[in-house]
Amino acid sequence: MLNLAMLLEDSARNHPEQTAVVLDSRNWTYADIDAEARRVAALLAGRGIAPGDRVALSCPNLQWFPIIYYGIVKAGAVVVPMNVLATRAEVEYFLADSGAKAFFCFAGTPEMPIGEQGFSAFLSTSGCEQFFLITAASEAASPIVGAETLEQALSGRAPIFETVMRQETDPAAILYTSGTTGRPKGAVLTHSNLLLHAATGNQMLGSTDLGDTHLVVLPLSHVFAATVNMHAGFASASTLVLLPRFDPRVALRIMETGRITFLAGVPTIYWSLLNAMTDATDVARIAGSMRRALSAGAALPVPIIEGFGRNFGVTILEGYGMTEASPTITFSKPGSAARPGSAGVPIWGVDVKLVDDNGDTIDGPDRVGEILVRGHNVMRGYHNRPEETAEVLRDGWLHTGDLGRRDEDGWYYIVDRVKDLIIRGGYNVYPREVEDVLMTHEAVSLAAVIGVPDQALGEEVKAVVVAKPGAWLTENELIAWSRLRLAAYKYPRIVTFVDEIPLSATGKALKRELAR
Ligand code: ATP
Ligand code: MG
Repeated sequence: MLNLAMLLEDSARNHPEQTAVVLDSRNWTYADIDAEARRVAALLAGRGIAPGDRVALSCPNLQWFPIIYYGIVKAGAVVVPMNVLATRAEVEYFLADSGAKAFFCFAGTPEMPIGEQGFSAFLSTSGCEQFFLITAASEAASPIVGAETLEQALSGRAPIFETVMRQETDPAAILYTSGTTGRPKGAVLTHSNLLLHAATGNQMLGSTDLGDTHLVVLPLSHVFAATVNMHAGFASASTLVLLPRFDPRVALRIMETGRITFLAGVPTIYWSLLNAMTDATDVARIAGSMRRALSAGAALPVPIIEGFGRNFGVTILEGYGMTEASPTITFSKPGSAARPGSAGVPIWGVDVKLVDDNGDTIDGPDRVGEILVRGHNVMRGYHNRPEETAEVLRDGWLHTGDLGRRDEDGWYYIVDRVKDLIIRGGYNVYPREVEDVLMTHEAVSLAAVIGVPDQALGEEVKAVVVAKPGAWLTENELIAWSRLRLAAYKYPRIVTFVDEIPLSATGKALKRELAR
């Protein structure tokens, strides 16, 4: 019997006065967060939420996020986080798909006006019985008529609650995938998935007790920040400095205080930090405190690693993962120098293999195949989707839908998603390889490569490019330049310049929107 919340309880017991969460100028200790989470658990139990019931949470990175998350988990219920930027229709989908019985929803502020959509989605979702409005300041009355505020619901409730113990394979969370390739799917992650991942995460980073001060730049609703910042950070009694909404200038300002030691981001986060730097940025101060930076979620272009290293003295370590794997699958090898371009080696307790189109295992190095995973990190399945679950969980392995290769030393390189592969006249073109080349052009800020239908070749390679401000670059120039650096079947024949590339809430290029 165990419970994911034990990692918080452990730190609250051993380091009660250590700062767990910082938001603006306010601090919460481990004892505070744990006590508040107990109040939330008591509230849920008092309102008839039983172990195994799903409880949804839509909240930006505020102290409430971990308090409610662990409160739900302590009650034995299953937390269903959603991104605050989800539209009303998406919120309705998450509530209905997960079968949530209760919903904690942020009320919004003038800067983050997102409240009503959650409330109206709640009203139209049958089965969801309880609604708690999370307000930023302690307002006496609910800003939404008819909705109870969390403050009101908690008032007078003592922080007394005994955590409900669960079986290892009982779900702790249903985390929706980013929806990059289609409708988000709810990955069911168990108490043991997430507890083991937190412990493994700290082991692979070499984080020690009370070691780190994280700047949390990704939404805690996504698996990456939830596990790497929140679960692993709390398990090592680290301090989490929360950014309710990512703004690279604000992030740099906080980093300039010289307190931040740890960053976990997707590549576009690092890219925007580098772009937001000015002559006035105190890089020396930032470099003086930074110890670790990690990236995952999408391919990390080598120029970003170089730029970050040059300015902040830290090599961004790349990992590879997916929601279905809690999420980490591979990460830079502990104690070894990073290999830019590689996503590392399988983490502790996890096996990885590559298979070819026939499903046969690829033994040798440098051959591309689909990445398969097994180990403590693999989800129980997709919530309510037996067919899709059977498709990805086969023969004891999780089929990732990603293509990779391995070098002679066992380091993995993520080639691309199977779905993004472009087949041009019978030849495989991996968009990532083309993007990497385009990104080395001095006038290119960001590039996304997609396949577009072509009568003669089946598909043609198209590059959608954001040029650097003030840069002077034409389509033909970039095509000619790529032609010198890529095989004849790979270089883009079509180039379009855009002001921005549509990104998902987790900062990934939405290629299916570009294709439209
Ligand atoms: P959906 O499954 O809903 O289409 P998604 O796959 O983007 O969305 P996530 O679980 O957030 O949802 O992302 C996992 C995916 O991100 C991986 O399957 C892989 O394609 C990509 N990814 C993760 N890390 C890396 C990396 N280091 N390099 C390249 N791609 C990566
Ligand atoms: Mg996916």
